[in-house]
Amino acid sequence: MMAGIGGLLAFFGFFFGLIGAIAVQGFLYAAFLTCAIAAVLFLLAYHNRKKQMDDWKAKESTSIILARCSYCGLQNDKGTKKCESCGAPLGPR
Ligand SMILES: [Zn+2]
Repeated sequence: MMAGIGGLLAFFGFFFGLIGAIAVQGFLYAAFLTCAIAAVLFLLAYHNRKKQMDDWKAKESTSIILARCSYCGLQNDKGTKKCESCGAPLGPR
């Protein structure tokens, strides 16, 4: 969502820059400002995405550990509540 706003602002920045280059000098400052905000938003979006991916990876590895049966050692599918081999309950105890 942040990247979407950033992209929109980048577009407007480019647009303002075009106007500034062709006609009004004052638009050039607006273009610079908009581009700067767009760059910040892009960085924020990238940072957020990286954090989300890290969270997701951490969750993924945890759920894989939880899906391993501690009695017979069978690696069950993620989200499985009971071991498919011995029927022991899976998850945190
Ligand atoms: Zn088991």
